[in-house]
Amino acid sequence: MSMNMQGRPTGIGTVGTAASGSALLPDEPLLFEIGDTGHSGVDLPEIELPHDRLGGFQRRTALDLAGLTEPEAMRHYVRLSRLNHSIDSGMYPLGSCTMKHNPRLNEKMARLPGFADIHPLQPVSTVQGALELMNQLARWLMTLTNTAAVALSPKAGAHGELLGMMAIKAAQAARGEGHRNTVLVPESAHGTNPATAAFLGYAVRPVPAREDGTVDVEAVKAALSPDVAAIMLTNPNTCGLFEPQVIEIARAVHEADAFFYCDGANFNAIMGVVRPGDLGIDAMHINLHKTFSTPHGGGGPGAGPVVLSAALAPFAPVPFIREGAGGLELVEHEEGEALGRITAFHGQMGMYVRALTYMLSHGRDGLAQAAEDAVLNANYVKARLEHLFSVPFPAFPAMHEALFDDSFLEGSGVTTLDFAKALIDEGFHPMTMYFPLVVRGAMLVEPTESESKQTLDRFCEVMAELAEDAKAGNTGRFTAAPVKAPRRRLDETRAARQPVLKWEKPPELPRAAE
Ligand SMILES: *Cc1c(COP(=O)(O)O)cnc(C)c1O
Repeated sequence: MSMNMQGRPTGIGTVGTAASGSALLPDEPLLFEIGDTGHSGVDLPEIELPHDRLGGFQRRTALDLAGLTEPEAMRHYVRLSRLNHSIDSGMYPLGSCTMKHNPRLNEKMARLPGFADIHPLQPVSTVQGALELMNQLARWLMTLTNTAAVALSPKAGAHGELLGMMAIKAAQAARGEGHRNTVLVPESAHGTNPATAAFLGYAVRPVPAREDGTVDVEAVKAALSPDVAAIMLTNPNTCGLFEPQVIEIARAVHEADAFFYCDGANFNAIMGVVRPGDLGIDAMHINLHKTFSTPHGGGGPGAGPVVLSAALAPFAPVPFIREGAGGLELVEHEEGEALGRITAFHGQMGMYVRALTYMLSHGRDGLAQAAEDAVLNANYVKARLEHLFSVPFPAFPAMHEALFDDSFLEGSGVTTLDFAKALIDEGFHPMTMYFPLVVRGAMLVEPTESESKQTLDRFCEVMAELAEDAKAGNTGRFTAAPVKAPRRRLDETRAARQPVLKWEKPPELPRAAE
């Protein structure tokens, strides 16, 4: 946020607001502009401290927090929340992110006091139910993937990648193969894959994508060498395609004594249908917040458990749960070859409850149906739009995502970015743009299984109408968009490079009388 002379937020790089404060969409000021710092929003009696019990460290200056009443503070945040699109207010086809509906049953279960009000340092005998839930979740994850172990504690997909690659590093060090310093990453990979490898000190060797959007086993074989520790492959991949040679790739990687790390962020397309362990994976993170429906986006908590093959199971981190004579035990200290902790405690309890609730309410057949419906919905969108849009990889059916490139916009003066912004004016969250990088001007649409045919039809009609309008040369509608959102086009690059993170009291405003 930047400030204008009146101290009102203008938003960095904004073209201006669409409607400067209409009744239901007020132009929301900052907390400090609603409440002044000179008084408190709650009444507390004046107190005289008889003697200093803080060893001289008590605060001497004002705290300078905005003095707000509870309703003022609540209304501020509720009004802010209405400025954002959300999965609860409209379709959110953001590819790779699996923005599916979060059933309210999950929320109800996660709020049960026996799960919500426990403390990680409580005696283990008092949290047997919570441990049993974690144990059941672990069994579901291992069964759905046909793997030997699972580490529950990583707090996001990227965190899980880090853990999985640390386990691979430890396994190779234990075999005296610490010289393996290179990781193969296909060009279509999510950015977190090469970032994880580089973070652990590996050199990243790209594997080129084939014309048809998949990875060629021959290209993998050509890239394999004695210094390769692992391949990090996403399946289904970020082009929304199931890798047809995944088994051959796993075999080639194992023949070179390297490991197969699978990015499992797209597990929603295959859960209950394909077990990644059967394909030869050694480690794979599962984004519980994506596949098993917990609210995410906007920085909410996530959970990225990592399933491990028998070869990597001994290198799982602590803590883990073990069945003992007196009930479930929590192994908190390193034993044998186990890695240390990857996070302070056991992970995200609320996410575990939501994920297991989702699994139990669907059952194994229901999970498979959800995956099949996600694939069906994506193919429906693709089939309805492919005559107007351009499909970069027509050779294969889509999995859970429909991917378009920008060649249908050629000569129109409209870019992928403009097109996505125009979608905001129509009440939809934009699709993922310019990712995967191997596709020019990519538009990655992931409708998920949650959307009804009616909603998909409405979305397809809007997409088709926009495509026809762009081709007809009605550029202004796109380059000016969004015009119906609380903020217009933001300079996102400037916002990222020059963030203004601190509110400065505008000098023009005199301080409230003390
Ligand atoms: C979301 C995603 C990740 C990262 O997961 P986070 O939970 O956001 O850290 C990695 N790979 C792919 C393909 C993803 O879609």
